[in-house]
Amino acid sequence: MRIAVIGTGYVGLVSGACFSEFGVETICVDKDQDKIERLRRGVIPIYEPGLDALVEKNTRAGRLSFTTDLPAAVRGADAVFIAVGTPSRRGDGHADLSYVHAAAAEIAAALDPDDFTVIVTKSTVPVGTGREVARIIRKTRPEADFEVASNPEFLREGSAIEDFMRPDRVVIGTDSDRARQVMRALYRPLFLIETPMVFTSLETSELIKYAANTFLAAKITFINEIADLCEKVGADVHDVAKGIGLDNRIGKKFLHPGPGYGGSCFPKDTLALVKTAQDHGAPLRIIETVVDINDRRKKSMAGRVIAACGGSVQGRRIGVLGVTFKPNTDDMRDAPALDIIPALQAAGASIAAYDPAGMEEAARLIPGVTWAGDAYAALRQADCAIVLTEWNEFRMLNLNRARGIMNEPVIVDLRNIFNPQDAEMAGFTYHSIGRPGRV
Ligand code: NAD
Repeated sequence: MRIAVIGTGYVGLVSGACFSEFGVETICVDKDQDKIERLRRGVIPIYEPGLDALVEKNTRAGRLSFTTDLPAAVRGADAVFIAVGTPSRRGDGHADLSYVHAAAAEIAAALDPDDFTVIVTKSTVPVGTGREVARIIRKTRPEADFEVASNPEFLREGSAIEDFMRPDRVVIGTDSDRARQVMRALYRPLFLIETPMVFTSLETSELIKYAANTFLAAKITFINEIADLCEKVGADVHDVAKGIGLDNRIGKKFLHPGPGYGGSCFPKDTLALVKTAQDHGAPLRIIETVVDINDRRKKSMAGRVIAACGGSVQGRRIGVLGVTFKPNTDDMRDAPALDIIPALQAAGASIAAYDPAGMEEAARLIPGVTWAGDAYAALRQADCAIVLTEWNEFRMLNLNRARGIMNEPVIVDLRNIFNPQDAEMAGFTYHSIGRPGRV
């Protein structure tokens, strides 16, 4: 089988590489010439563990290739996956569908009318988008033999390949038997490992993705608020999370408190679902509240750091460990660091920061930061250390060594990666989230 994947970002590139690993001949397309040239040279434009080896293996085997020539990729493809970005539309929070619509029009113009093609939206798109894609294609090419399907992606950055290869489920929304057959054939290796497949309508499939992401965002927000309460009443949020998470109806995952969710999906997807629900006269007040709480939380985190520094960071040096929205990615989209660092700078602090993968992108987004070569360099002469991302290498930090090179022994750990006793034994005043002791 042959597919084209339009958009070679976190989702398109991983999906393309994984389909080629399944044995499907895959052509990945992007508008970004530089990205495509780098991929052709074997340079992976994003940080995603294992992706370089997978791309190299399948490129070498002749199953995976990269092009900017969308028409050539689409011609003769059994399925064309749209995996372009759907960011928040500036001003109103609706999903910006301009990239999806533009891709649909380009695909339409390239379709070979003699071949049946399934057009699949892999991007996260609001209810109704699949039918709009069909309308755009039909308008441009009334004679084309095509069907549309929705196949939302649930991979997580940082473990994207494993998530794609061994997903909890695959969701496929389409009204067409022919499209279902093509999708079934493409996902055959996952059928063989008994991955649950949810076949449904276009609209249901589109909504499943938003319902999943907003539920997870609500779960994080719930434990964050419980953490705040723990601080007031002297309880330990990790024990609360364990105590409730062992109940199978609740589940253990996504019960880790932090500075508020960020990343390329939850902030924009919560907002977009709120807008869709309002437009349809069925407001999702619970998600509206989640969005509001999370925005306030991210903004309030700088205040915690200032309080830990005795009420002012004017003229203080702050060492920041981690800037990406989570570990094992270089993705900076909507990372809490983008709220916290500028707020500390505005309050008069100078910032030295280190992140294993995100510094190049972060340097473009947050000016005025001294970027350090490693965690210890970021902490040298610092009056306070703050942990913004729970990279494993920070968990292994030698706290005695850190204490020795800092000006003041203060840690604000917004990811709770250290044991409070260990930090205090090393001589630190240690502040974390939702645990007894200092907050
Ligand atoms: P991204 O911004 O990393 O990549 C999008 C790519 O599409 C870019 O390289 C861009 O140049 C390219 N592009 C845009 N228009 C194009 C066109 N007409 N032709 C060719 N290329 C074009 O985006 P992403 O993070 O991969 O997300 C893509 C979609 O997947 C979004 O809807 C997102 O919500 C969804 N999603 C993302 C994740 C994630 O973890 N990043 C997970 C699940 C779902």
